[in-house]
Amino acid sequence: MNGAEPMRVLVTGGSGLVGKAIEHVVKQEGGCLKGEQWTFLYSKEANLVDLQQTRAVFEKYRPTHVIHLAAKVGGLYLHMKDNLHFLRDNLRINDNVLQTSHEMGVTKVVSCLSSCIFPDKTTYPIDESMIHNGPPHDSNFGYSHAKRMIDIQNRGYFAQHGRHYTAVIPTNVYGPYDNFNFENGHVLSALMHKTYAAKKEGTPLQVWGSGTPRRQFIYSLDVARLFLWVLREYDEIDPIILSVGEEEELTIKDAVEMIADALDFKGQIVFDTSKSDGQMKKTASNAKLRRYLPDFTFTPLSEGIKKTCDWFVHNYDIART
Ligand code: NDP
Repeated sequence: MNGAEPMRVLVTGGSGLVGKAIEHVVKQEGGCLKGEQWTFLYSKEANLVDLQQTRAVFEKYRPTHVIHLAAKVGGLYLHMKDNLHFLRDNLRINDNVLQTSHEMGVTKVVSCLSSCIFPDKTTYPIDESMIHNGPPHDSNFGYSHAKRMIDIQNRGYFAQHGRHYTAVIPTNVYGPYDNFNFENGHVLSALMHKTYAAKKEGTPLQVWGSGTPRRQFIYSLDVARLFLWVLREYDEIDPIILSVGEEEELTIKDAVEMIADALDFKGQIVFDTSKSDGQMKKTASNAKLRRYLPDFTFTPLSEGIKKTCDWFVHNYDIART
């Protein structure tokens, strides 16, 4: 693609869960084609909340394509405490990246939305056409509204400037390099860390919430492979959901049991129902993805959990805990 010139791809948020998975696919699975340059950006090199730093880093790398992952991201409980901050930082990061991309002639941007931005009151399964059909869940309204604006901006850049800026919507991502912090991590990674600690200390595993909410989980390397396809092949401005099928949605309790198996935890599991559950479900349809890629094989959850637990145990010293 992109005529004669090989792509120069800038990946914002290159140090995160999804960024590291894309780096793996690019460097270890032959995802980088001849002549291409891939740069994985850390916040140390440019704080994208700041416009001058954003412009400087784009000047430095002169990307033709951008994968925009950088975001102020957290778990349920951190979002509930800090919604305004999530809104403001993410609005700034996204506007800086999209507008700078436009000003510097970037041909394609693929940004990352999230299934937690969907309307709270909705029918299921949710699909790509329903993103703006009502307010998101209160628990993360700041992050969600900022993410929704990416889709609006993408439409604007296409309508006014013919730019091909689009977005993907992954459901719950997990994998190596996730944030395993008890309070601020994503649900699976926080649970892996808690299970690891409970086993080490011989204490019961305390799971926050009832365990009954249902989720679709996608392994970070699957997300990464799909990202490369979107970057190279997907021509729509409208976003596309990256998810396992609706039939693979399962409860937090089911996932906890897989984690206990993977870490060989035999102790008691206690569900603390005084803690919030968040959305009870947010079933997303992957029908659009399946129309494009009917044969894509997702990593089974038990296998992805086992690989992630093994990574966590072997990389405890460098993992974000
Ligand atoms: P991580 O928290 O693992 O990574 C976040 C990334 O954003 C890091 O590389 C971080 O850089 C970077 N970042 C944060 N603030 C700034 C800033 N001010 N300037 C520059 N970079 C910054 O997130 P994930 O990999 O999980 O998420 C990637 C994208 O996917 C996000 O847009 C997220 O909203 C979206 N997403 C994630 C899902 C999930 O379940 N994980 C689900 C759906 C969507 P550094 O570490 O160097 O500070």
